[in-house]
Amino acid sequence: MTAPTPHVLVINAGSSSLKYQLIDTATDESLASGLIERIGSPESVAHHTVDGTKHDKEVECLDHGQALQILSNAFQEHGPVVTAESLIAIGHRVVHGGATFATPVVIDDDVIAAITDLIPLAPLHNPGNLAGIEQARIAFPSVPQVAVFDTAFHATMSPAASTYAVPKAWREEHGVRKYGFHGTSHAFVSRRAAALTNLPVAEANVIVLHLGNGASACAVEGGTSIDTSMGLTPMDGLIMGTRPGDLDPSLPGHLSRVAGLSLEDYDKALAKESGLQGLTGSADFREVMTGYQAGEPEAQLAVEAVVHRIVRHVGALAAVLGRVDAIAFTAGIGENNAVLRELVMLRLGILGVVADEAANNSAEGEALISADSSHTQVWVIPTNEEGEIAQQSATLVAS
Ligand code: ADP
Repeated sequence: MTAPTPHVLVINAGSSSLKYQLIDTATDESLASGLIERIGSPESVAHHTVDGTKHDKEVECLDHGQALQILSNAFQEHGPVVTAESLIAIGHRVVHGGATFATPVVIDDDVIAAITDLIPLAPLHNPGNLAGIEQARIAFPSVPQVAVFDTAFHATMSPAASTYAVPKAWREEHGVRKYGFHGTSHAFVSRRAAALTNLPVAEANVIVLHLGNGASACAVEGGTSIDTSMGLTPMDGLIMGTRPGDLDPSLPGHLSRVAGLSLEDYDKALAKESGLQGLTGSADFREVMTGYQAGEPEAQLAVEAVVHRIVRHVGALAAVLGRVDAIAFTAGIGENNAVLRELVMLRLGILGVVADEAANNSAEGEALISADSSHTQVWVIPTNEEGEIAQQSATLVAS
């Protein structure tokens, strides 16, 4: 009998899209990846990339069950071969694990029930994650399914860091506390930052700036998260594409009194109409940066506010860490936008940061963007959430 190929299919199912990647965990190689967009619409689009070629197809995809069928068809049509025998696990990204899940788990009915119970903490995310899990179990019943939680990496935060000073009943009966998110990204990038600064993970203090559509900062001490900018939900902290980050908690009461705003409208406005979208009318940082460079006042304010917020969180996390060996920029904006990185670095003199302008402007892949004279090293490190989910899934099923 030949040993099974150590392939893991990683599934990141959202409410209206499903991203997947097939990863060889022996080599960390991504063998194929894909995206099914607009699930729930008769005019969905499926993209499947293999060997550098992207195959796009218009499909009907009314639910996550059809999405799994489209995924299977794409592998059959364009390769590589994916069968129950070729997979050691299917790894699912699950956004909220609450206080229940501090590590990845093999999914069974109890795990599904527990993730379902956590829906009130992540109403926009957990239902899509669950739909992906349920359909993958139907499509590949004999393959172990693993849930990897965005919150799990932050389970190491101390009660002092994770406690909100609110009434006891809220904390004890409703799980009201800071959980933190983007855990797989913060785990992967902080480990790479330790390696790149030639420090053992156990000795490296790193601040990771995950700046994508969603954005969060994390203080990683010796490989564990000790504080992060996101909170009960992925709404808190940095300014994001459509989410505001830090707010005064009295805002919902105030808007209800002065504008008659319902909680439903308030939640929607904070999830979809705030952040860059609220400040400029565009949630896409590329467009905002173009406006900034053209001198448009709204875009200038937005970029200055984004930078200010990042600097303020870095300062707070640096104080919590006590010593910072490295700062790492990652995700769509962090990896690609040299102007934003430079604006942030220029404001971090308190950490002895000295930018290397040329290195920053030409950074591609993993790159050191601080000068030799910089007291704190600053890196660009592409994140690899799918690779991390695949590795964590493979480790769990091998144990
Ligand atoms: P998410 O995974 O949270 O949806 P991403 O990590 O893909 O988000 O980041 C999306 C953000 O990254 C968008 O604001 C987009 O404008 C920005 N971005 C992506 N590519 C570039 C680029 N080449 N230059 C500048 N910004 C970019």
